[in-house]
Amino acid sequence: MEKIFVISDYDKRMDDVTTLEMLSKAAELAKASQSKVVLFSARDDFFDASVKTVAYYGADIIYAVCSESPVSSSVYRVVLSDLIRRDMPKCVIFTDSETGKEISARLSIMLDCGLTADCVDIILDNSGEYVFIRTALNDSVVARIKGDKQAVKMTTVKKGAIPLRKREVDPNLTEVYDLACSYKESWLNGLGLFEILQEIAEEEVEAVDISKSKILFCAGRGIQNKESLDLLFALAEKIGAQVACSRSLVDDGIMPRERQVGQSGKSVSPSIYFALGVSGACQHIVGIKNAGFVIAVNTDPRAPIFSFADYSIIADAKAVIREMYNKSTALNVRHASGLVYKS
Ligand SMILES: Cc1cc2nc3c(=O)[nH]c(=O)nc-3n(C[C@H](O)[C@H](O)[C@H](O)COP(=O)(O)OP(=O)(O)OC[C@H]3O[C@@H](n4cnc5c(N)ncnc54)[C@H](O)[C@@H]3O)c2cc1C
Repeated sequence: MEKIFVISDYDKRMDDVTTLEMLSKAAELAKASQSKVVLFSARDDFFDASVKTVAYYGADIIYAVCSESPVSSSVYRVVLSDLIRRDMPKCVIFTDSETGKEISARLSIMLDCGLTADCVDIILDNSGEYVFIRTALNDSVVARIKGDKQAVKMTTVKKGAIPLRKREVDPNLTEVYDLACSYKESWLNGLGLFEILQEIAEEEVEAVDISKSKILFCAGRGIQNKESLDLLFALAEKIGAQVACSRSLVDDGIMPRERQVGQSGKSVSPSIYFALGVSGACQHIVGIKNAGFVIAVNTDPRAPIFSFADYSIIADAKAVIREMYNKSTALNVRHASGLVYKS
């Protein structure tokens, strides 16, 4: 039976939400192509506790790398390349983390496989070929890319681009295989430098992950002043939401890139997405195609965002933020099992 590989990051838990997103997509593709989903992971202290979760999201088989010392990028890569040569999966899906990008890039060279990076979706066409969807030509078009002749096709998928989907399965049927390995770190070739640089970068990055929030307020240039932006942050904190932004605010140096939604930012899938003073350029919209309910506030009735929104408010975003902030204690917005509702 054909296989689809999902590669979890060796430095994260196997049931990290990004891996669950990849599994959700792999399970959908496996159903359509009569394939098995194989999850490749490091065996860490959380491994046993995570098996059931990954089974629910799509893992039919788990290969766990066991090593006496903590699993490193080089060990992971070597074991994985052996496994890919042996099983010849049709498709190998990596996360778009630094780890996923680094390992997929190196493996695509080692194994001479095509790699389509930064995808927002993967589909099967009528002839059963994998088609990788991503932006191209400086993000001005959405491209559908097919690997040509390679037997194994690799991809990295953007975090937040794939909605989570749980399966109705018996998690005990998932097969777990340990891959004991004795590869030595001395195999490293310049990799230490990469890891050190990564650590420094991580310290500097603001610890915010807009792709996890169920309610997301997105600030666009129409927000206009710092006072309104500060109030939006206060409102978000009050109700357990997060603040994202359009690229304009990043280009203007007002917000950090980690909060940008869109083609050159993050793809998000919150239950509720408030676009405040956002015009709705296509490069922005592509990042919210998996959002649940979209509410747009804009003073211009012809703003493109309104043709994408479920609920349109023609008003001054600053006034709407102030009103929501004043009413938010009475609103009592609560989260329950991923749902957001009012009472
Ligand atoms: C290669 C490339 C990649 C890009 N990637 C991204 C991306 O990832 N994400 C992204 O967002 N953009 C991206 N862009 C930029 C994108 O094309 C738009 O320029 C950008 O999204 C516009 O941001 P905005 O809507 O905040 O600002 P504007 O286009 O300036 O729109 C501001 C909106 O606010 C409204 N407004 C004004 N005052 C008020 C008020 N008081 N109350 C309510 N509404 C008000 C206006 O009517 C207007 O609709 C990219 C562009 C390129 C070329």
